[in-house]
Amino acid sequence: MSTTWRVADVVSGMPENDTARTIGLKVAGLDGSLPGQHIDIRLTSDDGYSAVRSYSVAAAGMDGLLQITVDELADGEVSPYLVRELVVGDQLEIRGPVGGWFVWLPSDPNPVQLIAGGSGIVPLMSMIRAHEASTNPSRFRLLYSLKSPEAGFYRSELETLGRESGRLAVDYVYTRAVPPGWSHAPQRLTAESLLASILPADAAPEIFICGQTVFVETVSEWLVQAGYPTSIKTERFGGTGGNR
Ligand SMILES: Cc1cc2nc3c(=O)[nH]c(=O)nc-3n(C[C@H](O)[C@H](O)[C@H](O)COP(=O)(O)OP(=O)(O)OC[C@H]3O[C@@H](n4cnc5c(N)ncnc54)[C@H](O)[C@@H]3O)c2cc1C
Repeated sequence: MSTTWRVADVVSGMPENDTARTIGLKVAGLDGSLPGQHIDIRLTSDDGYSAVRSYSVAAAGMDGLLQITVDELADGEVSPYLVRELVVGDQLEIRGPVGGWFVWLPSDPNPVQLIAGGSGIVPLMSMIRAHEASTNPSRFRLLYSLKSPEAGFYRSELETLGRESGRLAVDYVYTRAVPPGWSHAPQRLTAESLLASILPADAAPEIFICGQTVFVETVSEWLVQAGYPTSIKTERFGGTGGNR
């Protein structure tokens, strides 16, 4: 973990959907990250004004490479620049990876329930990728709440893993538009549909929830009321608008 600012080279940019893209960074001396950690990015303008925002690590190797996925907030200060303007060859100042609580360790033998609202999938994807790369036989289950199928991040990877992994099950909740042939109309997550789609409390899963503040707080409350342990791990991305 590094708490000093250092320079990262932008080495790739790949759209995930209309508003989000995955950005590849090369950081000299970086030796991986724990699944779930984030980095801070500092942008500084010519007049010295600077803005710092946090972005979860979506994937990281031991070769100095890491990926983040940024969702654009139309009225935001930093995210539109990262999604629309940053190009390969640019440089960014970064700090981290940081964070020691919202992490999954490949040595953890417990089953894991992941619950994502919108861009909250990013740190959970890092956990899924680390789990797939490990020999840990524990069960992973992901519940992914999103506006529409087109709004999903990592779509083909999740589809393939959900079909072939054997250690990962993926469930979706679509809040505004559903895929063709879906069994029901778009709906927001409810306590009932949540409990029907996740590992039961008596399986004693480790639970990680990530998304906007309202989403995370609502889901955590439902779980505690339903008898899940209070050791649920949460990460709030900010914002108050519910699922994205
Ligand atoms: C630990 C951590 C990890 C994060 N990881 C990611 C990530 O992987 N991908 C990602 O896209 N974002 C992530 N975020 C959110 C990110 O840090 C920024 O808050 C986000 O990109 C908005 O920044 P901005 O400068 O564009 O908007 P701002 O100028 O800061 O805000 C513009 C408006 O949007 C509201 N707002 C701020 N954040 C959000 C939000 N997340 N959702 C909805 N409304 C918001 C503000 O209240 C304000 O009204 C993370 C946040 C934290 C704390």
